[in-house]
Amino acid sequence: MDNRLKLKDKKRIVIKVGTTSLTYPNGRIDLKRVSNLAWVLTDLRSGGREVMLVSSGAIAVGAERLKLAERPAEVKGKQAASAVGQAILMQMYENFFMQYNQVIAQILLTKDVLEDETRKLNARNTFFTLFEMGVIPVVNENDTVSVEELGFSENDELSAYVACLTDADLLIILSDKDGLYAGGDPDVNPNSVLIDEVSEINGDIIALAGETKSKLGTGGMATKLVSAKMAVDNGIDVIMASNRDPSIIFKILDGEKHGTLFVS
Ligand code: GLU
Repeated sequence: MDNRLKLKDKKRIVIKVGTTSLTYPNGRIDLKRVSNLAWVLTDLRSGGREVMLVSSGAIAVGAERLKLAERPAEVKGKQAASAVGQAILMQMYENFFMQYNQVIAQILLTKDVLEDETRKLNARNTFFTLFEMGVIPVVNENDTVSVEELGFSENDELSAYVACLTDADLLIILSDKDGLYAGGDPDVNPNSVLIDEVSEINGDIIALAGETKSKLGTGGMATKLVSAKMAVDNGIDVIMASNRDPSIIFKILDGEKHGTLFVS
């Protein structure tokens, strides 16, 4: 059976959106995209799927609220901005999901939680209980208490951990790139071709990532591939697709060819 058609049956899904998916370059929230994300996720949930949202954006939104000229470079500045921004982010999600009567929950994780068996089990049980209650967990790193060297390198990695922790069937990473390209970053090389499917994330595939990085977010294609590999190695399919219109998720789950599929 076509690997794309198998996506129709995916039940437990992690959707990761980065800062660039949620905010304008000036750090203000892109309401249209967030609003669309809320109805798409609610609709998936209503259709019987268990969805989790891994959302960045706390630092950028906090920096904007604090009227900082740019994203702080120092750890304590990032932590302070995140402490301000995370609350705003959740308030915004709450407002949008409320329109569809969808209950959401905030889960803030640190890497050490997932490396400790007891704490990991507790976190896992919380996710499962929320699924039973019909709630959509919204996950971010607990930036204020996470030590940079020991934390997740970025939320791509966090999303792979969450997918593994919850035995997800699929991880969808939305970003400002349409997927993985052969020929490098399509913004640099217009002749680059989008790869439809990758059956093994090996050195040759990782080499295709190059140095692409976004200005507001922290991740690039290389970190996405390393995170995708972690998920794939744990039996979870991964899709990387464009963040332009969140309803692309419906098309992907319908078996249409969008983005790049990394087959587990
Ligand atoms: N946890 C950070 C935030 O919410 C984001 C880390 C990342 O961009 O991957 O701002």
